Amino acid sequence: MVVFPIRPMLGFRALWLLAAAVLLQTGCASKGGVRAPQARASESPTLVMPMLQVHMQGGTAVDEVVVQTSAVEALEVAQRWGVLRELVTLRVHPSHAALESAAHQSNVPWMRGWARFDEVELEAPSRWGGDRVPDHVTELLSHELTHVVMYQRVSDREAWTRVNIPLWFREGMASVTSRQGYRRMTGEQLGTWLRAHPGDDPWLQADALAHGHQPVVYGAAHRAFERLIARHGDDAVHRILDGLKAQHPFEAAFEQAAGHSPVEFLAQFRRELEDVRVWQPAPGPTRVVAAAPSWFSALD
Ligand SMILES: [Zn+2]
Repeated sequence: MVVFPIRPMLGFRALWLLAAAVLLQTGCASKGGVRAPQARASESPTLVMPMLQVHMQGGTAVDEVVVQTSAVEALEVAQRWGVLRELVTLRVHPSHAALESAAHQSNVPWMRGWARFDEVELEAPSRWGGDRVPDHVTELLSHELTHVVMYQRVSDREAWTRVNIPLWFREGMASVTSRQGYRRMTGEQLGTWLRAHPGDDPWLQADALAHGHQPVVYGAAHRAFERLIARHGDDAVHRILDGLKAQHPFEAAFEQAAGHSPVEFLAQFRRELEDVRVWQPAPGPTRVVAAAPSWFSALD
């Protein structure tokens, strides 16, 4: 399928932003302290771009505009790792329970979105405050669409669930691409956690730890992927994805691209995180980090 260039859509994006501003003003309008009811979103799917259609299964008209506007930028961010080859359906759900149901997940209160090969499930931004901060919707959609781009890059609709990609790599890629580092544990915080949990591995045991230690698992994933790019560049990630597309196991694809196994890479990274020596803070408002590796400040 032909993929249309993104740039010409920016005029379209400006129009959406204008419409969003009008709708946001309308949504906030009130008389005598009573908030005016928000218009409901349209029920028929909208083709936002040639490769993405939005289906509002709930939410407000403001949600609809914010999601459609954010999706345009998010698509550009996510396609750092390849172009979408299949039309993506993005469903906006009216509640967290509806999102969990659509994602076949339970008891994950922090979850706002879920991605598959050509589908994204999203909790309506107005349910978690994203309607007032569209940048957070762009960030979330960039994260989910990065997953979609990766799945479409390495496989097809029939086989994508059989491609074995570790959680740390999947989530690290999505988190770094959508610039979520400010939400994640710093390298220093991870080092402290790792020293206190010598028997736990937030990368190789990520699935087992994910429910009880979500910030650690996502923080470790983010910092490891960030480290991978700092050391080997985007090219290595592209070569890993090429290896997966060629049906090589993840470990082999990684070793071919990076020159060492993922186990070696993660063990070395763990040692670096654990070795960071932190001086006790001198009197004053800031902590002094000494003997940190050169990449450290770039990560935090
Ligand atoms: Zn994710």
